[in-house]
Amino acid sequence: MKRILITGAAGFLGSHLCERFLKEGFHVIGMDNLITGRIENIEHLFRLKEFTFYHHDVTRFVYVPEELDYILHFASPASPIDYLKIPIQTLKVGSLGTHHLLGLAKAKKACILVASTSEVYGDPLIHPQSEDYWGHVNPIGPRGVYDEAKRFQEAITMAYHRYHGLDTKIARIFNTYGPRMRLNDGRVLPAFIGQALRGEDLTVFGDGKQTRSFCFVDDLVEGIYRLLLSDYHEPVNLGNPDEVSILEFASEIQELTGARSKVVFKPLPVDDPMQRQPDISRAKDWLGWEPRVSRSEGLKVTYEYFKALPQEDLYKTEHNNFEEYIKK
Ligand code: UDP
Repeated sequence: MKRILITGAAGFLGSHLCERFLKEGFHVIGMDNLITGRIENIEHLFRLKEFTFYHHDVTRFVYVPEELDYILHFASPASPIDYLKIPIQTLKVGSLGTHHLLGLAKAKKACILVASTSEVYGDPLIHPQSEDYWGHVNPIGPRGVYDEAKRFQEAITMAYHRYHGLDTKIARIFNTYGPRMRLNDGRVLPAFIGQALRGEDLTVFGDGKQTRSFCFVDDLVEGIYRLLLSDYHEPVNLGNPDEVSILEFASEIQELTGARSKVVFKPLPVDDPMQRQPDISRAKDWLGWEPRVSRSEGLKVTYEYFKALPQEDLYKTEHNNFEEYIKK
């Protein structure tokens, strides 16, 4: 049985990846410090003998007694609100954390895939973004802690590949959505759905003409799975090229939820990228991958998930309940 370590296992993407690799017959070791991850995302896996969980912060030395075949490094805050709240941790997990996991991969002779991001392109000057574009990033802006940590992550990953011959992969992940996103993480989709469910107005930042391209989580997980098992070491964009303005997206959410919420305009956050759309030619050529789930299908599934949450969750501002969990 192949063994895989997944960092950020209790997060949105991490928890879906744990499930997928269990389904593929792997022994999965999940690791998370639970700063932004939620134990509820993975507690249904705790009864499986093929699943192990370590509560650990990867910015400290990472010790794993077992042999490992693969590592997926998905631990990181990933929303602008989180970067503002925990900027130093954001920098550390992308830099020190990645260094520890590369060292672990080398010691275990394991293949490692790191989760990079479309944020390495910053507020892009070319459109759509292909992997050979170097980006347009403000290093000292509020997003700089994430963007630059991820750029460093890519640099050190390629250095381990070139210098140590480590088997490495880099996924540049564009906006992804689906069940288990945190309702209060400030990202646009949970923000709008939460507002609709509470009967509040939908807050569109700026004039809403900025665009994003949203990928459903199952498609993303398939792309990660294929990239991990491929022979490619250069970065690969993974995302859905179906681009939409935030204002149009707000009306899609109004229609989906049937809420009578109006749109209200709020100031655009600093360095908010104006346009974002992945060029996925490389993923198509190298991995035979492209997204299959349309936004309307994906949004329905995601809305059902949020609708089924306990009413009080709609009003929670904090989410880290590991302490409560271990007391139970
Ligand atoms: N956004 C918005 N209203 C919200 C939250 C976000 O209009 O309540 C906008 C935000 O300014 C950005 C887009 O939606 O232009 C996507 O934001 P998100 O934080 O989800 O992701 P990112 O900016 O990292 O792509």
